[in-house]
Amino acid sequence: MEMSLMRRLPKIELHCHLDGSMRPATAAQIAEEEGIELSCADLRELTERMTAPPSCSSLVEYLERFELPLLLMQTRSALKRIAYEAAEDAALDNVRYVEVRFAPQLHTRGGLSVDEIVTAVAEGLSEAEARYGHCVRMILICMRHHGQMDNEEVVRAASRFVSLGVVGVDLAGDEAGYPNELHAEVFELAHRLGLPITIHAGEAAGACSIRCAVEKLRARRIGHGVRLREDAEVTQLIRERRIPLELCVISNVQTKAVPSMDHHPIRDYLDSGLLVTVNTDNPTVSGTNQTREYENLARRFRFSERDIKNVARHAIEAAFVDEERKRQLKASFEREWRELGLTAGEAQA
Ligand SMILES: [Zn+2]
Repeated sequence: MEMSLMRRLPKIELHCHLDGSMRPATAAQIAEEEGIELSCADLRELTERMTAPPSCSSLVEYLERFELPLLLMQTRSALKRIAYEAAEDAALDNVRYVEVRFAPQLHTRGGLSVDEIVTAVAEGLSEAEARYGHCVRMILICMRHHGQMDNEEVVRAASRFVSLGVVGVDLAGDEAGYPNELHAEVFELAHRLGLPITIHAGEAAGACSIRCAVEKLRARRIGHGVRLREDAEVTQLIRERRIPLELCVISNVQTKAVPSMDHHPIRDYLDSGLLVTVNTDNPTVSGTNQTREYENLARRFRFSERDIKNVARHAIEAAFVDEERKRQLKASFEREWRELGLTAGEAQA
């Protein structure tokens, strides 16, 4: 496929962190407005500080890149603006549906309540949605290193704010240091409240973390799941239960979830019938967007037109929205593909 086509493709993003999406220029402006000293000479240096190197020593080193954004995401106005811009950047990249995720408990340092944080983000996202006409939803994240009370507060907020566009909950952070088992009760509560669950698993820990996410935390999707191939039985479980994987190829290489791009399993996963979806994880921290992800897939993994359609179809199916919205998305993607002259793989629909 022609690379120039990648930007024009309709896209769908299920795994995108708000704090990893902040524009460096916005970071500079917010710091200036709030009198926060960032000790950066210029925008180039600031961008470098907010972007992870192509290869970090571990997930923990990658996560350090979030310190600066989090410092600046502690007021209602900053949260609203950053949310608006993240949704705007997605729209400009032809993303038609995006689930933006964030951890409310990481934004309370300035005294905001969880409710104030969620409503500020919701306002920014819905303003962008109204302007660009795409569909933007929220996933609230529980943090692995936080206690049960803090995480249950997030789950209850998620349930309360469904009408503002919250569609699910997630668990993120240091997977190797704080395993899934610690959080079973929190996600039992989410399940009782009827909230769809996705869990970061199989990124910094192995396939057993994925099994635990599905069997103990009731995950309907897996964030990353890149290390699934380490266990044939767990792979079979994920395939049989049709659990989608939110793969983030560029990020997975940076965090050392895979040793290098050549070792990423996305091609094998797709060919073996797993429900692969394509995501950015963190546009700013990973220096990416959906277009770059697709360009990389076409170049390095020989993704064909058919493959690109199939991962989009998987993502629509996996989205945490109602069937009517999925039907609309599917119809509009099929229409856009036809308009772009992409006719391969029609029968697969
Ligand atoms: Zn993530």
